Amino acid sequence: MKVLVINAGSSSLKYQLLDTNSREVLAKGLCERIGIDGKFTYKAPGKPTVDAADVAMPTHAEAIQAVLAALVNPEGGVISSMSEIDAVGHRVVHGAETFACSVRIDDKVMAALEECVPLAPLHNPANITGIKACTAVMGPNVPQVAVFDTAFHQTMPPVAYTYPLPYEYYERDKVRRYGFHGTSHRYVTQRAADMLGKPIESLKLISCHLGNGSSIAAVSGGKSVDTSMGFTPLAGLPMGTRSGDLDAGILEYLMNRHGMDIKEMVSVLNKKSGVLGVSGVSSDFRDLGSAAEGGNQRAALALDMFSYGVKKYIGAYAAAMGGVDAVIFTAGVGENDAQQRMAIASGLEFMGIKMDPDANNIRGKEAVISAIDSKVTVLLIPTNEELMIALDTAELA
Ligand code: ADP
Repeated sequence: MKVLVINAGSSSLKYQLLDTNSREVLAKGLCERIGIDGKFTYKAPGKPTVDAADVAMPTHAEAIQAVLAALVNPEGGVISSMSEIDAVGHRVVHGAETFACSVRIDDKVMAALEECVPLAPLHNPANITGIKACTAVMGPNVPQVAVFDTAFHQTMPPVAYTYPLPYEYYERDKVRRYGFHGTSHRYVTQRAADMLGKPIESLKLISCHLGNGSSIAAVSGGKSVDTSMGFTPLAGLPMGTRSGDLDAGILEYLMNRHGMDIKEMVSVLNKKSGVLGVSGVSSDFRDLGSAAEGGNQRAALALDMFSYGVKKYIGAYAAAMGGVDAVIFTAGVGENDAQQRMAIASGLEFMGIKMDPDANNIRGKEAVISAIDSKVTVLLIPTNEELMIALDTAELA
């Protein structure tokens, strides 16, 4: 089956065309600056690459049109007509408690997606726009499927998802831990079970998705039982620019001292905090590594805070599950940063984690990176959210 995977943002749209039988990526690219000055990129193996500026893309519909035009282009395209696309899979950020798995999109689902907007006011409207644009351009008969970032975590028990706030905020306002990166955590934990050659139902796994945004999930028997992100993706670990967890009392104190309103404060927490805020250097771990090597103490502190934060979650989630069979590293930092992986694992020998420094000296490839006599297996597994979305879409279309 050929599935077009769409990840629509407010002014961007990432796409991949995948063959779900061979699991091959046939083409992929990015529409950026939609509604501004339109930038379009397209890549397909063995075909000329497109990298065009000033492409007329006033709305997401023109962006989808540009994607389809590139896919069927006689020179660089990979299909001869649009009818070869069997289905479209959309990444949708928030599915609230309504969606515990992926769904085929119909009018009822669209209405339910609209209801989820208040929970993800920045992301869900863009995802809905992407779906509507596909319907407008491709017609109502091409099946479309929504795959949610939150769905995998809907198996968390109340003890993990309830906030210690007045209970009516949960009942009336839906304030609870939802968790994100679910598609990634689901993909890498399934791969981990394959690599370990054991049924996922028998495994206790800790999945560390460490990228620009980072989250950790405790996955017991294939089900998410806890995760570090919360009501929003601002919770948990310190991230590239997000603070992660902090004492809520700090907000009032800083807002009073600096005359900030809540919008400004939240913008600081989302965009100016995390490893960027602490280091003052960058949100990118490569820059922080170089700065720390050059003697920058704050860059070193930011890196140490990050690995310390991940280490604490590994300990906490092993305790929550009553043990752990494997720890998985994935996403930009998890897949590429051998030093961070080493720093995170060091000191965890007491709980049976022993790294193999040579095996750990690897980037972006599936590998066992723990020592042969490590009680807990440590795995590097590149994430593939697009493939997961395409497979779900093929199943439901
Ligand atoms: P996103 O959350 O945007 O999907 P990614 O998972 O792509 O993020 O991760 C991006 C981050 O990965 C970069 O900001 C950078 O910090 C980190 N990263 C990428 N490559 C490397 C590398 N070779 N070494 C260390 N960190 C890296």
